[in-house]
Amino acid sequence: MSPAIVVALIALLAVALVALGLGLSRRAQRRGEVAPPPPSGAVAVEQAEPETPAPPAPVVEAPEPGPAPAPVAEVPTALEEAPAPPRLRDRLGKTRAAFARSIAAVRGRGGVDDETWDELEETLLLADVGLPTTTRVLDDLRERARQEKITDADALVGALRTELVALLDETGDRALLSHAGEPNVWMFVGVNGVGKTTTIAKVAQHESSEGHRIVLAAADTFRAAAAEQLALWADRVGAELVRGQEGADPGSVVFDAMSAATGRGADLVLVDTAGRLHTKVNLMNELEKLRRIVERTPGALKEVLLVLDATTGQNGLSQAREFADAVDVTGVVLTKLDGTAKGGIVLAIEAELHIPVKLVGVGESAADLLPFEPENFVDALLE
Ligand code: GDP
Repeated sequence: MSPAIVVALIALLAVALVALGLGLSRRAQRRGEVAPPPPSGAVAVEQAEPETPAPPAPVVEAPEPGPAPAPVAEVPTALEEAPAPPRLRDRLGKTRAAFARSIAAVRGRGGVDDETWDELEETLLLADVGLPTTTRVLDDLRERARQEKITDADALVGALRTELVALLDETGDRALLSHAGEPNVWMFVGVNGVGKTTTIAKVAQHESSEGHRIVLAAADTFRAAAAEQLALWADRVGAELVRGQEGADPGSVVFDAMSAATGRGADLVLVDTAGRLHTKVNLMNELEKLRRIVERTPGALKEVLLVLDATTGQNGLSQAREFADAVDVTGVVLTKLDGTAKGGIVLAIEAELHIPVKLVGVGESAADLLPFEPENFVDALLE
């Protein structure tokens, strides 16, 4: 055998051995028996095959320092933003525009005549002040005009302002009641769609910014969406949410919320309630039952707030009567004043039902809930 042939045979043998080695290695890798080949060298092999077991999976660590991500980016309404509170007059749009036209017409006449009175009557009725309250306001205004010998339109508008503020001032205190160092429960009642859940979110945001520790009770166990929305808000404001399974007994939710508040030293429990049950009687009985559960803690129930949608105008008034008959309503939250010309309903609620309007909703963002201030409201209508 020539030396050339011997060299060629050795080379062939070497190639065959290398090929066999690689094939075995790949099959073994597919079975997971060995680590993948290191990029190069023996040191890399040692690193790739440590003798000590792999460290345990890391414990979840505290988040990186810095602002925490907002947990409610997916809140379903525009409530995410919380800009500075708006001015009432800027949000009363339609109601204000209707009054402005009428008041301009009254002033434009200079004096006071039958048309002046017709104009005022029409304006109040169109703003859903309602016939009884409109009649009362205009009778009182006529009497004042007679006594004060008012013959000038500007003076009459001034007197109207005085009458409207006086009418609103007759109703009770508008402050939301809460006492430091004891449990405070505010129940929110009202039919579906009026803005109860949104209002509770706004109130929770505001009260937590004032330093209150809050528990939210999702006692409307028929609407999962409402509980979801409250859950997002509970996260955002650091409140605890107590909710039940769908269709669970709302009474047990309220009971658990009261215990949670005691356990955690929370001073404010906001209770969302159902707005619809099979019958109206069922609904009212249910609310009455929830009320009794809260009252097992003497003095805890500070507010029963009826949420009414201003865009429903006089219909809101009949709802208010029904709720007021069933549960002692301590105040009204009038929502959606920003989207209606029926803002005069405030006057009807106060004059006919003697329930103070405590808060008004003027938009969908967190800051769009304002304390109701009679002078501010009347000035926004008449100026
Ligand atoms: P609930 O069924 O009574 O709980 O009503 P929601 O809180 O779900 O509100 C119903 C709708 O009314 C939602 O689209 C809210 O964003 C909207 N809403 C609530 N309050 C106001 C308000 O003051 N102004 C406006 N424009 N919309 C509001």
